[in-house]
Amino acid sequence: MFIGAHMSGPISSVPFRTVQIGGNTFQIFSHSPRMWRTSLNEMKVKKFKEGMDKYKLDPTKVLIHASYLINLASPKEDVWEKSKVLLKSELEISHELNLKYVNVHPGSRLDSPAEVALERVGRAIYEILKDSPKDVMLVLENVSPKGGNIGYNFHQLKTIADISGCNVKFTYDTCHGFDGGYDIRTRDGMKELLSEIDDTIGMDKLIMCHLNDSKYPLGFHKDRHERIGKGYIGKDGFTNFFSYDEIRCIPMILETPGGEIEHEEDILTVKKILSFLGLE
Ligand code: ZN
Ligand code: MN
Ligand code: MN
Repeated sequence: MFIGAHMSGPISSVPFRTVQIGGNTFQIFSHSPRMWRTSLNEMKVKKFKEGMDKYKLDPTKVLIHASYLINLASPKEDVWEKSKVLLKSELEISHELNLKYVNVHPGSRLDSPAEVALERVGRAIYEILKDSPKDVMLVLENVSPKGGNIGYNFHQLKTIADISGCNVKFTYDTCHGFDGGYDIRTRDGMKELLSEIDDTIGMDKLIMCHLNDSKYPLGFHKDRHERIGKGYIGKDGFTNFFSYDEIRCIPMILETPGGEIEHEEDILTVKKILSFLGLE
C-alpha cells in the first residue's frame, strides 16, 4: 500500500523525511500556498530529484497540492484569470520536479449559480491544459459542501471533466466526503459511494485518496480534519473503508492535524488496521 502525508518544510528533504515517518509517498505544495507568485530554486530541485532516486520513491504516487488562492469557479474575471495563470505555473513546476499529478479544488461559486460555476471550472481547465506540459495531469478533489464550494459529489466532478473535454483524474478526500454525507463506516455507505463513482467518473480515474478523519459528525459541512481513528469516522470506520480492494490500491495521503510525529503515528494506525484485516 502507498501511504504518506502532506509534507511541509523544504522540498529537498521531503523524500528523506517521508521515509523517516514510515511513508512511501507524499504530497507537497509547489510553493507557498498563500502567494500568487511561484518560484523554483534549481539547487532544491536537484536535491529533491536525488532524494526521490535515493529512497526509491515512485513519482506517479506523489501529489502536488495547488495553492488555496486558486478559484477556477470565481465569477470575478480578475481572480479567474490569475487562477489560471497560477495553476498553469504549478503544472510547470510539477514537470520540473518530474512529478505527474497536481491536485486542485474545483473552487467556490461565491454568489453565482452552481451551473455557471461548473461551466467556468471546466472552461478554465480546458484553457490551462491546452498548452501545459503533457506529462502532468490535473487531479480534481472532492471538497466539503461548505459555503459556496462546488465539486462535493462525483456528479459535479464529472460535469466539470466533461465540460473541459480533458482527461482529468480525481482525488477522494475522506473527511470532505464524510462532511457531505458519504458514510464510509458502513457497507451500505461504501456501496453508495462506489456505485456513484462507477456511474460517473469511473473507478479507474480515482487515482488518489486524502486520508483524513473528521472532527464533526456525518454531513456536518464543517471541513475539520482529525487524526486517523480519533474522529467520527473512527478506527472501525476506516477498517470498513480499507476492506475494499479497489480502495487499498489507491495512494493514501494524510492531511491530518499535527506534524511529522503525528503523521508517523497515523501511518502506524493505518498499518495496524491493515494487519487486523490480515492484509499487511
Ligand atoms: Zn485539498
Ligand atoms: Mn484534501
Ligand atoms: Mn479540508
